Amino acid sequence: MNARADVIVKLEQITRVYQQDSVAVNALGGIDLEIQRGDFAVLVGPSGSGKTTLLNLIGGLDSPSAGRIWVAGTEIGRMSRAELSDVRLRQIGFVFQEFNLIPVLSALENVEFVMLLQGMSDALRRVRSFALLKELGLAGLEHRRPAELSGGQQQRVAVARAIAAEPIIVLPDEPTANLDSKAGAALMDLMRRLNEEKGVTFVFSTHDAMVVERARRVIRMRDGRIESDERRAA
Ligand code: ADP
Ligand code: MG
Repeated sequence: MNARADVIVKLEQITRVYQQDSVAVNALGGIDLEIQRGDFAVLVGPSGSGKTTLLNLIGGLDSPSAGRIWVAGTEIGRMSRAELSDVRLRQIGFVFQEFNLIPVLSALENVEFVMLLQGMSDALRRVRSFALLKELGLAGLEHRRPAELSGGQQQRVAVARAIAAEPIIVLPDEPTANLDSKAGAALMDLMRRLNEEKGVTFVFSTHDAMVVERARRVIRMRDGRIESDERRAA
């Protein structure tokens, strides 16, 4: 990738066309975007503007109809399935609107799960998961299952799980959509702290003005295109 070292994700002329019966839906129409290490960026735009599609492409959950995507310097369109799944496991942290924790596992086990897949030893996994949950304000709740936690607590477990593998980027898709405003603000403050103190890079999507206010880079989308892209002073 011919780019500065601090560009960790690069998209070049990305389009995504969904075939809906016989109708083609242009979800993304020519996206050029660079995400830099340390970004705390939000994708904001009306429903249907392409935010989820874009996050799924950055995270390797979906493939573009045309264009090229690089993650950590490697073009994902050229990777084998095994390489791509390894990137998803090690480089990308996902956080979904619906929390998406595994219901039969405790908070601790949910966080450990990614490290288990990575082959980390039991003891190290356990120590790291306890430490992460504590850091995210969940000490004492490690053995609760998702149903025994509030929405805000579940979403914090989801953030702990997303950052457990120390990914190069975390991609929360409307992370506050199912939270009340207080829990949503607390979640944003937490992610911002992880960004400032640990340098975790975030690109999230939202509808929520409170979330936009807290972002340091605001990428506005409309009809599958980037309308504006502004950085703010910290
Ligand atoms: P947002 O997250 O901003 O609400 P999406 O990325 O979900 O937007 O959707 C962008 C466009 O792509 C919308 O027109 C949506 O209807 C369409 N779309 C998204 N996913 C699919 C799909 N799996 N099949 C067909 N059309 C889709
Ligand atoms: Mg969406």
